[in-house]
Amino acid sequence: MLGRRRPHHAFREHSRLRRARSGRAGQPAVRDSQAGAGRRARGACGSRSVSAPAPLELQVYLSPAHPLGGGRTFSPVTSTLILGREEAVLVDAQFVHEDIEAVAAMIDGSGRRLTTIFITHGHADHYFGIDRLVARFPGVAVVATPGVVEYIEANHAREVKTLAAMMGDRAAVPTSRPTPLDEPTIRLEGEELRVIEVGQADIAPSTVLHVPSLDAVITGDVTYNGIHQMLGLTGPEQWRKWIESVDAVEALGPRIVVAGHKRPGLGDDEPARILDETRSYIRDFAAAAACATSPSEIVEAMIASYPEHGNVTTLHFSAQAAIKARLAQVPG
Ligand SMILES: [Zn+2]
Repeated sequence: MLGRRRPHHAFREHSRLRRARSGRAGQPAVRDSQAGAGRRARGACGSRSVSAPAPLELQVYLSPAHPLGGGRTFSPVTSTLILGREEAVLVDAQFVHEDIEAVAAMIDGSGRRLTTIFITHGHADHYFGIDRLVARFPGVAVVATPGVVEYIEANHAREVKTLAAMMGDRAAVPTSRPTPLDEPTIRLEGEELRVIEVGQADIAPSTVLHVPSLDAVITGDVTYNGIHQMLGLTGPEQWRKWIESVDAVEALGPRIVVAGHKRPGLGDDEPARILDETRSYIRDFAAAAACATSPSEIVEAMIASYPEHGNVTTLHFSAQAAIKARLAQVPG
């Protein structure tokens, strides 16, 4: 793995989180793996005679929902390719063999050289594909924040066990780890992509990648798009902090928000809906969990409020966890 400086000191970007951006004219440059591309050049008003940064594009791969047996499913997972003229950066690496291969094919098809894979957080579905992608694209740097790398080091064995129980040998298991970034930026040709540590999402630490010239934020699981959110690993205090993390994404003024989990057919270019729904889902779940006496009461309430949301398996898990946590607090 690559050696990097300052591996044990997390950096912070809080000051940047509060800086709201105004919207700009132009069409969002995002496409999914089937749709046609859009393209938009960065505004160039500077007086220095340097060559303009490359116009960037996004390409989003969305995995299918994978069956887990018993009618349960694993929710569709995104990987996002940020394309320069000749090079590309990938955000999140999938975990099921066929999806890793599909992402590799997307990279091949782009005609760009993959320089970097950025991992948003330490859940298996976002990083277990790294070994296979490094084998396919030798020399690529796999990076994450120091906090995310520490989380992976501490939790990798458990992730392997959990995933094996769910997926058997359909999922890849990496032996390598991401390298800790020593600064909160990833370079893509003339542009700096900004790594932002937002803190809490379905787990902490969670990070997002801001692409300023596209007004795009690749959020990992800080946002969900039309999919039941994983609230079963945390409790009310963390849920409140998760809402603050969504606020931090909103403060960047994005025109494009790529969620870590997305229902097929939904766009990434509806930031208000994606951000508002992610927050309201947390609030509604917390309200349902506060008064429900059984998991099924929470499930019914959430399905009534979010009838189109995909992957109800996650909702069942979260509802059971919430009631279990409540019962654990009741004395004797
Ligand atoms: Zn995830």
